[in-house]
Amino acid sequence: MKNNEKYDKYDNLRQDNDTHDNTMELIIDSKSENESFARVVVASFVARLDPTLEEIADIKTAVSEAVTNCIIHGYEGKKGKIYIKCTLDGNTLTLLVNDEGVGIEDIHKAMEPMYTTKPQLERSGMGFSFMEAFMDELVVSSEINKGTTITMKKLIGVKDI
Ligand code: ATP
Ligand code: MG
Repeated sequence: MKNNEKYDKYDNLRQDNDTHDNTMELIIDSKSENESFARVVVASFVARLDPTLEEIADIKTAVSEAVTNCIIHGYEGKKGKIYIKCTLDGNTLTLLVNDEGVGIEDIHKAMEPMYTTKPQLERSGMGFSFMEAFMDELVVSSEINKGTTITMKKLIGVKDI
């Protein structure tokens, strides 16, 4: 690519970004060691909103639970990519976690507290309950053999006066 073409490309990208909200995208391999990495990246991204320690802890827990689910359930320990997208709209964080794994047959059942399909792995079936408790909103969408997308929202850094 010639130099001027390169600059054109960046110019286009920049213009494109200007029309978007404030976003961050991260793609990681489905390995357990990447879970802590993902949670630190998301926490760093929201730091600009001046969150409380409790809010940071809540967000980290939600990321951990969602990413762990992709690794253990979505890909069942096999190779795959996990896609994470954060969007800031004012003080609201939208956090999306997606895998292209096995999918969930009955979402309603899967979201029940203490429901797990992997009791042999000493799972407690509390992941979705934690995500629901620590975030303001949780939406799960899934298709068998296509994958699962978790979308969570949380208002951050808004101090009570
Ligand atoms: P824990 O999170 O307490 O270790 P768990 O992962 O089984 O246990 P949840 O996180 O609440 O509990 O998930 C409930 C169930 O939903 C899982 O047992 C699994 O069957 C299904 N599930 C969750 N996430 C996914 C996913 N990404 N892909 C496929 N199935 C999933
Ligand atoms: Mg879980």
